Amino acid sequence: MTSTQHERDSHSRANRMSEMTEEAPWRQADRLRSLYIGEDLSTSEIGEQLGCSRKTVENWLKKHDIEKSRPWEDEERLRSLRQQGMSEADIADELDCSQATVHNWLTKFGIDTSRTRPERPWHDEETLRELYVESEMTMDEVASELGCGRQAIEVWIHRHDIETRSYNPETPKALQDESKLRSMYLSDGMSTYAIAEQLDCAPSTVHDWLHDHGIETRTVGSQPGELHHRWEGGVDEYYGDNWAKQRRKTLRRDDYECQRCGITQSEHRNRTDIGLDVHHKTPIRTFQSPEDANTLDNLVTLCRSCHNTIEPPNENQND
Ligand SMILES: [Zn+2]
Repeated sequence: MTSTQHERDSHSRANRMSEMTEEAPWRQADRLRSLYIGEDLSTSEIGEQLGCSRKTVENWLKKHDIEKSRPWEDEERLRSLRQQGMSEADIADELDCSQATVHNWLTKFGIDTSRTRPERPWHDEETLRELYVESEMTMDEVASELGCGRQAIEVWIHRHDIETRSYNPETPKALQDESKLRSMYLSDGMSTYAIAEQLDCAPSTVHDWLHDHGIETRTVGSQPGELHHRWEGGVDEYYGDNWAKQRRKTLRRDDYECQRCGITQSEHRNRTDIGLDVHHKTPIRTFQSPEDANTLDNLVTLCRSCHNTIEPPNENQND
């Protein structure tokens, strides 16, 4: 039955392995390391893949001394990031952990956790959450409160994985109406996000309907945020729902260094006040859905200057 079936499956997988680990692949240190560190799977994901429990995986990780590094426990590092003026959200992004983790360890080390007024308050996750989520302000209201454009708010809300408000489950009529959608997207130059917000639906729904109507989506830059001229040149900033996560994974894989010139995240922030970019080697628009473009194979960490060399912002990216 299922357990027999399951056994047979894990046997055929295990055939490729040595005799010793045939019955218990989780005993194999290299295999565990590659799944846990290399592929960054969780212990329950590994358990699922190897056909054992999460607990077993945890035990063997311990036995083999396999640990993910926990840079947030490094007091000196935390202190220095904080001194560079990084917010808790920035640090969480840099160290690839949650903001709560950063906050806890800052507190533990007695490092000041009071909020510095950031130069660009719309980059700050807490500020955005406070206004957009807790105070239920609209994106326009948040924008005018913080003194920036509304698109910046859209992008940063997305970047911080802040859930946008629940949408009307019905497909808005305007989306089904090709000429209406065409005029919003093409003539009015509205972004996928702007249309979604106006019609009270998810950005991915807008993207799907654009696709269904055969309306060609505009090119996207490789990083939303600062380069407003990319938008004015008629680009869209819809990167797909898995973008924030894949972007973080790429940064971590690349050790937070530009893969062309080697500048680090902190140096880059010191020089330019922004984090490193993540670039799509094959442009998003050549994929059926933006999520498909966000595979780790297709993403690479670059500094702004190398990024602009490889992909000049003003160039019409038509190849
Ligand atoms: Zn570079």
